[in-house]
Amino acid sequence: MVQRVAVVGAGVSGLAATKCCLEEGLEPTCFEQSENVGGLWYYTDQAEEGRASIYRTVFTNSCKEMMCYSDFPFPDDHPNYMHNARLQHYICKYAEHFDLLRHIRFKTLVTKVKKRPDFSVTGQWEVVTRRDGKEETAVFDAVMVCSGHHVYPNLPLAQFPGIQKFKGCYFHSREYKEPEKFRGKKVLVIGLGNSGCDIAVELSTVASQVYLSSRSGSWVMSRVWDNGYPWDMLVITRFRTWLGNILPRAISDWLYVRGMNRFFKHENFGLMPLDRTSRKEPVFNDDLPSRIACGVVVMKPNVKEFRETSVLFQDGTVQDDVDVVVFATGYSYSYPFMEDDSIIKCRDNQVTLYKGILPPRLEKPTIAVIGLVQSLGPIIPTADLQCRWAVKVFQGRWLGKCWVKGYFLTTLQTDYISYMDELASAIGVKPNMLKLLLTDPQLALKVIFGPCSPYQFRLVGPGKWSGARKAILTQWDRTLQ
Ligand code: FAD
Repeated sequence: MVQRVAVVGAGVSGLAATKCCLEEGLEPTCFEQSENVGGLWYYTDQAEEGRASIYRTVFTNSCKEMMCYSDFPFPDDHPNYMHNARLQHYICKYAEHFDLLRHIRFKTLVTKVKKRPDFSVTGQWEVVTRRDGKEETAVFDAVMVCSGHHVYPNLPLAQFPGIQKFKGCYFHSREYKEPEKFRGKKVLVIGLGNSGCDIAVELSTVASQVYLSSRSGSWVMSRVWDNGYPWDMLVITRFRTWLGNILPRAISDWLYVRGMNRFFKHENFGLMPLDRTSRKEPVFNDDLPSRIACGVVVMKPNVKEFRETSVLFQDGTVQDDVDVVVFATGYSYSYPFMEDDSIIKCRDNQVTLYKGILPPRLEKPTIAVIGLVQSLGPIIPTADLQCRWAVKVFQGRWLGKCWVKGYFLTTLQTDYISYMDELASAIGVKPNMLKLLLTDPQLALKVIFGPCSPYQFRLVGPGKWSGARKAILTQWDRTLQ
């Protein structure tokens, strides 16, 4: 019987994990290597080893009604998209409100997680931690890995011939904090993800010129969508998901491409994704198209070769006198504390998890990886629901016959509402639409046609929150406020 649970990390996932354990009568101990909660959102001027590092001006790209914990809305007066400091404040308030802080051991690094010799019978783990140089070992019935996935830079220098000859400076976007020291410089940013675009746009206000190089393009979306409403409140709805599922693929692809091109034609801006219909995570940047239109950010294809002071691109163009190169080339997954990291990472550095949470091939399902799946939806409600599901699995209350090959998520890229509904159905917290239509039509229409806000997963079943109905009915009021 699972009782003691080790939670690795006190970011948004670790806090959700700690709260879920408490709600289910388990005893969580959350280990956090830094001195604060928040993980990625706890900004520091220097990047800390083993913890995600953000630049000073990071804003959320999910709006407050979509990215809150499902039973803890943001205060009414918060803007729809938030600076990292505000989100960090909210995260701290969440930890205080649910009295989570006393279950967190700060400045404590988890150095090892390994199966106990009798794992096949007990499912127990040995967890080694270090605090102030002192090591401690404890046994836990289950482990929730909430250590984050934007920590270990992916710096594929081998794919960039000549980089050793390059005389300018280069670094990974993880090291980037603010633009001032790049004033007057010529900067090349490699990578068209969220960080690459943010950094290129920010640097374009001080640098003499910014080039943004992309291998395969990307859809660039605006936070501000039709009539100025938050994009995610209009796009992430049950009705749209349902339409997407029933329409023939060709029509749904056509609608998708049309929707993505509604504000500007990506082709004309050098941004067009090579795979137009791929639903890979878009980039959110309200300013990039205008920075390109003003010529302060110039789009470039992939780099072919670095020379001492210049860069040759795939299209044969050369840019001279490049001073700085920022590799916004993303992150790789790593779990340095796992004694056997093949438990989570499988072949080719890929991660394959049952429901995007449970590592396969374990005799007992007593370790869960939280917050790793990627979808168009926000991470906080996703992690929250994953934790509620995982805790039920630990308790042996749900797993069913599906614990077989074929039900695993390999790409970890998934459709938000379908994924949330799958987890929610399994633990009995998915609202029944027909029943809702008959008993509470006003609410039902909001649930079906309105934004799929996190409160929907607190309307019924275990963990039901009495404020959920009101939160759904008033979500647009808070948005306008
Ligand atoms: P993290 O926030 O990374 O927290 C992990 C914690 O674990 C850290 O505190 C770390 O110190 C601790 N830890 C790690 N290893 C150990 C160990 N061995 N021992 C003890 N402690 C350990 N998502 C959204 O939904 N909306 C957004 O708008 C959004 N914007 C983003 C912007 C940027 C620039 C980036 C990089 C990501 C963004 N994301 C966004 C995704 C982001 O990953 C999540 O919002 C979220 O922060 C992930 O939380 P987490 O708790 O899983 O991991």
